[in-house]
Amino acid sequence: MEMEKLAFLDEKIIGAILEKLREERNLKIISFSELYRLLNEFENRLVQSFIKLNPRDFGFNGKFIGVGAIPKNLIRINGHFLPKQVFLVFWEMNRILEDDIGKRLAIFSGYRSPAYQSIVFLRYLKDNKFDLLRTVKGVAFPGYSEHGDAKNQAIDFCAMGGDSSNIGPANFEKTIEYKWLTQNASKYGFYLSYPEGNRDGIMFEPWHWRLKG
Ligand SMILES: [Zn+2]
Repeated sequence: MEMEKLAFLDEKIIGAILEKLREERNLKIISFSELYRLLNEFENRLVQSFIKLNPRDFGFNGKFIGVGAIPKNLIRINGHFLPKQVFLVFWEMNRILEDDIGKRLAIFSGYRSPAYQSIVFLRYLKDNKFDLLRTVKGVAFPGYSEHGDAKNQAIDFCAMGGDSSNIGPANFEKTIEYKWLTQNASKYGFYLSYPEGNRDGIMFEPWHWRLKG
């Protein structure tokens, strides 16, 4: 696969899309039809050619989850969304974690619609200077993200009061919250779905916990 021939890597159009969506609210639960209404013809064409790519051509081996309907039972929590049944398990686990170690987990990323996942991917692609292979190791293609799977939802955790700087592997992995999760999360059905050396081709993500469906 010759990267330079992939039309979707048009840096100017990607920049324009991201700029246009910068001020949009509730992007995390946007549908493809809502997204297409916000973009012009060229921008839409780029998104559509992107979502037709096969992630396996780029070293991503995760399962296809689907680009279906956005769940209706989403609970909003500090700007993030979780399906109600997932929220309840998370809330209970966090209460026990607080009883045990006097800390609380915050959510860095919860449910993300497949259309939002394509925006997230384009953001990372730009941040990675349009290095597609590097981007694929850190973020799933739309339809392949465990954040878009309400039945088997993934949540990215961070330490309370933290920001993006402490969810990285070098940091969240060292927190007492992470240690507690490795010892207790399975009691609630949460598991680390991208452990070290995982087969999906995704880097080790100590902050990314998935709830069994
Ligand atoms: Zn994640």
